[in-house]
Amino acid sequence: MEVDELLPISALNHVLYCERRAALIHVDGVWIENAHTTAGLLLHDRVDSAEETNRPGIRVLRTVALRSERLGVYGVADAVEFVTRGGGEQPFPVEYKRGARRRWQNADVQLAAQAMALEEMTGVAVPEGAVFHAKTQRRRVVRIDDALRALVAATAERLRELVSSRTVPKPVLKPQCEGCSLRPACSPTAIADAPSLASALRTALAGE
Ligand code: SF4
Repeated sequence: MEVDELLPISALNHVLYCERRAALIHVDGVWIENAHTTAGLLLHDRVDSAEETNRPGIRVLRTVALRSERLGVYGVADAVEFVTRGGGEQPFPVEYKRGARRRWQNADVQLAAQAMALEEMTGVAVPEGAVFHAKTQRRRVVRIDDALRALVAATAERLRELVSSRTVPKPVLKPQCEGCSLRPACSPTAIADAPSLASALRTALAGE
């Protein structure tokens, strides 16, 4: 697979958050910063420029380029800890997120895709990784189990379908819309309000 055919791992996160958001970004090329995305960028800048934090038996690399031919994705891991184990080193990816844990699984899928790419690149099993939530300063260990791997593969396939079909799904108002930086370009409430507008129009016409 050519480099320009690979899709970003971060797009998997977008697909699970909202397929319309994923398509607006990766089909239509729309991007709008808001306070949430800017704070996320600042966090990643801080993480990327942090000093090495090697500990006994653990070598830490930051901003690690990743690639998976099998999933058709590429990306960058915020940090990968290489843990000395059994005469070799086992990779342990760490993804930094600004907020606390969210209800949807998008951060775990992003982390699992990084783990699967690391396995493909190193030939070493990656059974676990962690999401570090800056808001709570908590590091949450995530098992990269079969169910999560299947979700990564299905999400990567769905992303490829969206991008190759050049389709942007219609907006659907949902909890994720609150805080979505693309809301000004998406107008989910316009569609959500459509039935009431249509009903108001019918009422007005009936009264003529
Ligand atoms: S505003 Fe809502 S529907 Fe629109 S892209 Fe964002 S999350 Fe999706």
